[in-house]
Amino acid sequence: MRRYDSCDQSPPLILLVEDRQSNAALLQDALPPHGYRLDVARDGNEAMAYMYEMRPALILMDIQLPGMSGIEVIQRLRADPQLRHIPIIALTALVLPGDRERCLAAGADVYLAKPVSLHMLLERIAAQLVRM
Ligand code: MN
Repeated sequence: MRRYDSCDQSPPLILLVEDRQSNAALLQDALPPHGYRLDVARDGNEAMAYMYEMRPALILMDIQLPGMSGIEVIQRLRADPQLRHIPIIALTALVLPGDRERCLAAGADVYLAKPVSLHMLLERIAAQLVRM
């Protein structure tokens, strides 16, 4: 898990939960120039530990993860009074019928199918942060 200093202020902190290094690297390059800090968790357990400690402004959640699925992580977050308000954007490569509904029913605020254009992602992130 890569962390920024918690005393570092200003740019909104985003947690990306993503098991594929290449996907994570793409966003680690792409988001900071647009004014966001990005940390990466590789699986659900790492993500939960991170969220209790760091309280990110928003979560980008891959759904296909080793161990606990993204859906399960979303359900856990939504069941936790301390974490339930954090916006979640679900990302999935595996688009099955009902996928979108499952993500939204679990508590995701937005559902995007991969590959996601950077433009679209930035737009959705900004909209969720304004909503808070
Ligand atoms: Mn994955």
